[in-house]
Amino acid sequence: MFVKYNFSFMSTISDNLRKIKESVPPGVKIIAVSKSMSPEKILEAYHSGHKIFGENRVQELTVKYYDLPKDIEWHLIGHLQTNKVKHIVPFVSLIHSADSFKLLMEINNLAGKINRVVSCLLQIHIAQEETKSGLSYAEAETILQSEELQQLKNVRIVGLMGMATLTEDENQIRKEFASLRKFYDSFSLLPRVPGANCQFEILSMGMSSDYKIAIEEGSNMIRIGSAIFGERK
Ligand SMILES: *Cc1c(COP(=O)(O)O)cnc(C)c1O
Repeated sequence: MFVKYNFSFMSTISDNLRKIKESVPPGVKIIAVSKSMSPEKILEAYHSGHKIFGENRVQELTVKYYDLPKDIEWHLIGHLQTNKVKHIVPFVSLIHSADSFKLLMEINNLAGKINRVVSCLLQIHIAQEETKSGLSYAEAETILQSEELQQLKNVRIVGLMGMATLTEDENQIRKEFASLRKFYDSFSLLPRVPGANCQFEILSMGMSSDYKIAIEEGSNMIRIGSAIFGERK
């Protein structure tokens, strides 16, 4: 009985994933946001062929990395404290939430010790709420143009991440995504210190409630939790 119930419940995860995959353009990468979800639920997505997962807490991410199959690509999407960098540097595929130069320096130092180059996105504050963390455009520009950045040989800045305001107002959401896209596009025009550790290819924006708008505004990486796994408790 339990097996049967489990099976029918869990099969909705792969159905949800398949539907989302079918509805987005092929160039858009889907990060399955598995925060607060059990290893069983993650494995259900994994066995349906999905290999990229995102977590917002270092502790939870680390435990899941050690417990689950090693060919999973793990992304950190939540705020990262400098003193926790060491836990994820050995395995993390992409840090979406780099939000200070100090943090980039710490990632660089620890990655250097194990000969890794860690890919990062600069998280930009695009929402109206004060609570969502991230850099202002001016702060991001300062980092991207700094000579110091070129010294961080074990960090690669591969793009930007942003979260829109939590609102029903689609125009507001669209405006915020469009502004991030504009900044993303203007990056190639910025006067910059030449160097290979800063090449934009990822624009991470869009979650369950707003990913369609985000894709229309140029996102090529969406972070989807509840639309895949159901509501979090
Ligand atoms: C939780 C979370 C998501 C996914 O949210 P859903 O609404 O469940 O899709 C995306 N990005 C970040 C940074 C998150 O913390």
